Amino acid sequence: MEAGDEFYWDADAQEYVDANGKPVSDDDLRKWILLLLLLIRDNVDKLTERLTAGTLTLEEWAAAIEQELAHLHTALAIVANGGLAQMDGGKWERLATRLDFEITKFRNFVLQIEEGTLSAAQIRARIRLYVNAGWKTFANTVREREIEAGINDEERRVLGGSNHCAVCPEIAGVWAPIGTLLPLGDTPCNVNCLCHFEFRNTASGEQDVDLGIAAD
Ligand SMILES: [Zn+2]
Repeated sequence: MEAGDEFYWDADAQEYVDANGKPVSDDDLRKWILLLLLLIRDNVDKLTERLTAGTLTLEEWAAAIEQELAHLHTALAIVANGGLAQMDGGKWERLATRLDFEITKFRNFVLQIEEGTLSAAQIRARIRLYVNAGWKTFANTVREREIEAGINDEERRVLGGSNHCAVCPEIAGVWAPIGTLLPLGDTPCNVNCLCHFEFRNTASGEQDVDLGIAAD
């Protein structure tokens, strides 16, 4: 799915609508994000195999990975914000801060590789974490968008995945004033629990339709 000709952003409902006027469920959107992360992980794995085989230099590999990560976080921030047309100065700014953080972390990792103490398996495992961070960018950007939209006043974290750390299940499912819960990435699993945020308006009683517990 791409936010473009076939989908447009409904700012009142804070959701995508397809060409037939049917809203795209948050569940479907998250499934698409997971798929994208798997695709990028594949690309990154292949690049890393070439590094290990010696057909890519560390410099070439790092440049290629950096580009993958930059594209990934940028694409996910744009999708989370409702498409390119919704991107304004503040949203680009937040993306830039995020990118800066991720790329700096990655460059430090490259320095570690340069020291030659990491095995191929360690490099591969670690680089996958950088890809997984895309989930954090998506979910936290959705939350920032909701805070900014000012429609909903409460949020809760919802567990995803199947293997959970000790903290995410403890703090999931509890409604709290919007913007007060721990952002994704601030629990021991980082993002491995694949949690996301849901929102509601306590005054109108309206709640995001996709609660992740829908029967279908
Ligand atoms: Zn967790």
